[in-house]
Amino acid sequence: MLVKVAIDLSLDRLFYYEVPAALQKKLAIGQLLSVPFGHQQKRGFALALGDWPEARAHTLKPVAEIVDAEPFFSPQLLALVRQIAAYTASPIESVLRSAVPAAVIRPNARPRELLFVDPVPDAPCAALTARQQWLRDQIVRLGGGWMRPLCDELKTTPASLRALAAKGVVTVAVRQKRRDPLAGRRLLPTQPLPLNPEQAAARERILSSEKPVLLFGITGSGKTEVYLQAIAAELAAGRGAIVMVPEIALTPQTVQRFAARFGDRVAVLHSALSEGERYDEWHRIRSGAARVVVGPRSAVFAPVANLGLIVVDEEHDPSYKQEDLPRYNGRDVAVLRGRLEGARVVLGSATPSLESWSNVAKGKYVLAELPRRAGAALLPRVVLVDMNEDAQTGGVRGAIYSARLLDAIRLRLDRGEQTILFLNRRGYSRSVECTACGHVVGCPDCSLPYTYHQADDCCRCHICGGWIPTPSACPACGARALAYRGVGTQRAEAALKKCFPAARILRMDADSTSRRHSHDDILGAFRRHEADILLGTQMIAKGLDFPNVTLVGVLNADSSLNQPDFRAAERTYQLLAQVAGRAGRAELPGEVYIQTYDPASGTIRAAARGSFAAFAEEELKVRASFGYPPYRHLAVIGLRSKDLRRVGDWARMYAASLRKVAGLEVSEAMPSVIEKAEGEYRWQIVVLSKSAAQIVKAWRWLAEVRPPPKEIRAGLDVDAYDLI
Ligand code: ADP
Ligand code: ZN
Repeated sequence: MLVKVAIDLSLDRLFYYEVPAALQKKLAIGQLLSVPFGHQQKRGFALALGDWPEARAHTLKPVAEIVDAEPFFSPQLLALVRQIAAYTASPIESVLRSAVPAAVIRPNARPRELLFVDPVPDAPCAALTARQQWLRDQIVRLGGGWMRPLCDELKTTPASLRALAAKGVVTVAVRQKRRDPLAGRRLLPTQPLPLNPEQAAARERILSSEKPVLLFGITGSGKTEVYLQAIAAELAAGRGAIVMVPEIALTPQTVQRFAARFGDRVAVLHSALSEGERYDEWHRIRSGAARVVVGPRSAVFAPVANLGLIVVDEEHDPSYKQEDLPRYNGRDVAVLRGRLEGARVVLGSATPSLESWSNVAKGKYVLAELPRRAGAALLPRVVLVDMNEDAQTGGVRGAIYSARLLDAIRLRLDRGEQTILFLNRRGYSRSVECTACGHVVGCPDCSLPYTYHQADDCCRCHICGGWIPTPSACPACGARALAYRGVGTQRAEAALKKCFPAARILRMDADSTSRRHSHDDILGAFRRHEADILLGTQMIAKGLDFPNVTLVGVLNADSSLNQPDFRAAERTYQLLAQVAGRAGRAELPGEVYIQTYDPASGTIRAAARGSFAAFAEEELKVRASFGYPPYRHLAVIGLRSKDLRRVGDWARMYAASLRKVAGLEVSEAMPSVIEKAEGEYRWQIVVLSKSAAQIVKAWRWLAEVRPPPKEIRAGLDVDAYDLI
């Protein structure tokens, strides 16, 4: 018998080994094996057992050892891994590597074993000294303990306790001690809250629907309580659950909400854990000791047996998409796994992705809605400030702050309340904007702003690859007033200081956080009210909850819309909705000011009204007319090399070859928005198609007939999120 093994080598290839007679009965699919490879021993997973006559053409080496009799992958998980490898055109071992923490498969990975001292009940203790007698009594009183802390507590030495063991009154033995990421946290257990009628209906829908449920609920509508109670029902029925949250939301508070309800049955998996904690948590999941897993996208692979429910919270969040190999989307994998294992799936969001929203319309998903807040907090009042009008009524044309927003800030300063000001900008993409009329120069074919490329002084569309020389005057109004970038946080801070010299201002952006202060320092200082105003980029939009903040200002809602990305409107809506959900959480009612030069924009108006359905309807029309996702699949082929000339040549050659494939729409080859990174030049090709499988097929064909030379790295990103 032979076994096909995936070895972690970044080779898109499986290897055959002979199964020695001694292992024939024990070897099973999904196990971790140790196999000879060259002159080394390597670890790999058993993927298939059988007899492949063609493999016998070479002499095969035998498997050296079964590292762990318990399989790491169930047959369903292996099927899932195979499907992801196929869908994302990734080597299967790269998917396996994503699915199991490295901390678990390292050759030196093992449980922590420490010495434990146990009293022996009713042992005769005639031959003990008085001191030994006392030690024994203390150990009985404490019920035993770990050697080290016990010695500290009793002011004694391991040698003394071993002497006691020699006399038979205690035992000293090696025991596994769990490395617990939540150790030392005092958690007050929480009880289920009585659900309001919408929450109860949502819970019933989740527990009864065969299809994935999209739980569309505004911020604070009580989605988490619905998850908790749906999970409780699954646990009661003997099934397990996985809760996926965005990386940035995976804070101790989030984990504690689940741990406070389910206690020790919760395991956490995330990047901040130590290797040992990760090892132990993963094993607690596989052994069934933990039945609820909370983690980021990779948690979707957790080896939960008899899986009943997968929750994907904030399902629209881009962090579910992995940007490196394998480029999977954790949300989509959740749906796939649910189907393979017969588990229920719930995708929750206040601002669903348009992919999921349209899946409801198509009947693939079922909708459950939570339209109102669960707790006492009120929704803030949202004010849309038309910057054109403001300029005519007391404000200054082209100013960063409108007169109305300045008044609102002044009021907060007078009342001793706090303000958050929000400036959305992605530093690296530079659009060309007219400072006189606000027009943004864009591609007529793709309805996207051009990106300015300094290297060849041109404006390029990052969907179709079309370009124009940078115009010298605004194509809309003719003014010679084009500028290459929006307002930065530093300028916004300077202008604010001028208006309010006495106000204490904190700035948070990539610059300010990388230098003296960390993210947490700045937020901590603001929470302690050591500043009146927090000014920052989108990094302050998420996961923050400050009780004393009653005003949130969005300085430039437009610049978020004017990103060279077909998802710009969707991201703007998400951002504005998130910001609007921020203020007014506590007893103090809040206000949100959104400044725009484009008050007619459907996206901004819908966000101001909190009408996601209206936004989605309008935006889906735009997507449909250009054939953007969710109407077609969009993939990015990226090429990187230190050799500028060759990478461009290969990109052009690839684009030309792909254009001959029927059913694909292929862009011009173009330099990426970030043209050079880590010493490498980056080019890209954008491919649109009705079928993702067809894109993958074309890519595999290309990689076979025209494999890239060594100095060029080429990769495919199906359903890409990052178009930069
Ligand atoms: P979401 O996850 O939708 O943002 P949360 O689950 O965090 O909302 O709920 C927001 C607040 O409302 C929390 O303080 C929560 O304890 C409270 N809450 C949720 N459900 C109920 C309920 N049925 N009754 C009372 N309070 C609730
Ligand atoms: Zn274009």
